[in-house]
Amino acid sequence: MPAAYQHYIDGEWTDGTGEETFTSRNPANGEELGEFRRGTEADVDRAVAAADEAFEEWKELSHIDRAEYLWDIYHELKERHDELGEIVTKECGKEISEGKADVTEAWHMVEWAAGDARHPKGDVVPSEIPSKDAYMRRKPRGVVGCITPWNFPVAIPFWHMAVALVEGNTVVFKPAEQTPWCAQILAEMFEDSGVPDGVFNMVQGFGDAGNAIVEDDRVDTVLFTGSAEVGHKIASKVGGEPGKLAACEMGGKNNIVITEKADLDVAVHSAVMSSFKTTGQRCVSSERLVVHEDVYDEFKERFVENAKNVAVGDPLDESTFMGPLIEAEHKQKVSEYNQLAKDEGVNVLVDREELEPEEIPDGHEEGHWVGPFVYEADPHEDLRCTHEEVFGPHVALLKYSGDIEDAVEIHNDTDYGLAGAIISENYRQINYFRDNADVGLAYGNLPCIGAEVQLPFGGVKKSGNGYPSAREVIEAVTERTAWTLNNSKEIE
Ligand code: NAD
Repeated sequence: MPAAYQHYIDGEWTDGTGEETFTSRNPANGEELGEFRRGTEADVDRAVAAADEAFEEWKELSHIDRAEYLWDIYHELKERHDELGEIVTKECGKEISEGKADVTEAWHMVEWAAGDARHPKGDVVPSEIPSKDAYMRRKPRGVVGCITPWNFPVAIPFWHMAVALVEGNTVVFKPAEQTPWCAQILAEMFEDSGVPDGVFNMVQGFGDAGNAIVEDDRVDTVLFTGSAEVGHKIASKVGGEPGKLAACEMGGKNNIVITEKADLDVAVHSAVMSSFKTTGQRCVSSERLVVHEDVYDEFKERFVENAKNVAVGDPLDESTFMGPLIEAEHKQKVSEYNQLAKDEGVNVLVDREELEPEEIPDGHEEGHWVGPFVYEADPHEDLRCTHEEVFGPHVALLKYSGDIEDAVEIHNDTDYGLAGAIISENYRQINYFRDNADVGLAYGNLPCIGAEVQLPFGGVKKSGNGYPSAREVIEAVTERTAWTLNNSKEIE
């Protein structure tokens, strides 16, 4: 094993050009998981050059041949499911069933992409002139840069890369700096698959390495999933460059609407799952619960009871519901938002920001622990705490009166539009929500979590700018040609 894990460029493991390394730590106990090389602009330059060169031969293979490499990875993800799930949990702190689910979501995407290799590509359309053939063909775009967040460290990289590779692009992958170990394993899988040199490249590191990918003229598409702050920067940089394309998926300030027609068992379950799973650190986590006045008191009592008792602890322990936050800086941010809510005058119902010493498992004193913070606020007040993404178990109860139109108006009153749920037994309310909620991912009588790769995955407003993931990613990694062929002897 090298002193520090390396980058994978042009089919080789390399230290790269920089002197610096960084450490991955288990957020539940501070345990050191590995030392990793920090990539530089020169490392990205080399990786992009390798990808650019490899593209010329890779694009000439058939979809089916390219998919063969992905099938190997699919089998490995399945065979190593539990082991990899444990690594995800150790490196990003999600409780163990979620760590394993991350691996499951990865293989779903690989299965989709590799299976799709045998499906029709493009389409044949009727022409205005009977003797003419008219159809749409797809071509790979070239070098695809994939910049990913830490919270789905196996799934999201595959959500970006699998279709891109099968369609004939080559890839430069810059994983999140918080989860380099997961990325290392993923790169080892590509190496084991025997994929030709330069087709898959990985540069470990921070935002400067990501930025070097964005700014490199040879990168044709940038796929990004992460914060709105970074995503908007990328989208505006790339938007100014002709011929280059960025697809960015970003954060949210997601709502669950609970109407007077809701089944409250479903409502409480959905709210607890959406607000506290992954310790509120999912892009689809709900931080706003919009509840009708007729059911408000009962819902509040039951939700608060859950928030007081939800099990926070060692994420490797199967009885844990919520693990730690990812890192100390993020705990600081969540804590500042909790304080901000108090300063903005909300009514605090549950404050478990600092856990009791007996709640912290032995040997886990270094973990970034936090419990639920729940409050009620006026939905019509323009508070920062109810409008900005916290990315933690920080939840506002917003009481409304009136009809579904009033609830959806409150729902839509944020700059974001990623995920939203409605809990109701009334089909008119459900249909109204479906048609009018400003979201890319809408759920009915379900928690605001869960994704299926055969559906689009992305947001509107500040949450989305294209689809870097799931089935729609094909639009970002292929170019379309409208092909028309004259079959008659007559010259047009
Ligand atoms: P982040 O934006 O801080 O980092 C994401 C990636 O961007 C990392 O690899 C990082 O190194 C890189 N990066 C940072 N600065 C960069 C720059 N200037 N140029 C290029 N790359 C740069 O996000 P994070 O903290 O890893 O993840 C949390 C955020 O991601 C939350 O806002 C969450 O809502 C969002 N997220 C969204 C989705 C979605 O599908 N919509 C999914 C997961 C997470």
